[in-house]
Amino acid sequence: MRLARGCNRCGLQQRIVWGVGPAPARVMLIGEAPGENESRAGVPFVGKSGKELDYLLARAGIQRGDVYVTNLVKCRPPKNRDPSPEETEACAGWLSEELAQVRPRFIIAVGRIAARWFLGDVSMDAVHGLPFKVADRIVLPVFHPAFGLHVPEKMLMVQADFEAVGEIVAGKRPITPPVDEFAGKEDYGELHD
Ligand code: URA
Repeated sequence: MRLARGCNRCGLQQRIVWGVGPAPARVMLIGEAPGENESRAGVPFVGKSGKELDYLLARAGIQRGDVYVTNLVKCRPPKNRDPSPEETEACAGWLSEELAQVRPRFIIAVGRIAARWFLGDVSMDAVHGLPFKVADRIVLPVFHPAFGLHVPEKMLMVQADFEAVGEIVAGKRPITPPVDEFAGKEDYGELHD
């Protein structure tokens, strides 16, 4: 979803990698930021992590084509470092516009940085694979496929996260507590005031 021709909201100033996929969509997947391959292609999740993501989604019974796929930060940080809190805040307006147009019921938050954007200062060990209600959406934090690629013995855990997500999205797994831990918040933005 191309939202502008350019952007100077932060200092990254790289090729903008907009999200891709249907809008509206029931499921939106949000990663951290584009890597080198994504920046070159102008498409999120097309490199090694992207290939793994395709596999994990397919295994979980989710068609990537049905999912709106984007990143919290739309430009590649140098040397693939984590986006800074300032860059993330500066870029957040684009994500808000995407959320307004995609209107997802489910948000798959891929990796710690995306998960913390919605859930606050959580530990991935505590929240991965579980559903959280944030306003009228269900946020599903999962470990990043890159984590499983870097630490192969963790890949089973990454796969289990995506399996759980597949079952929740398909309505095969009840959305039980801690889902309502964040219920009642007007919108996730209040975590960022
Ligand atoms: N990792 C991410 O978080 N996003 C991408 O688009 C690629 C790799």
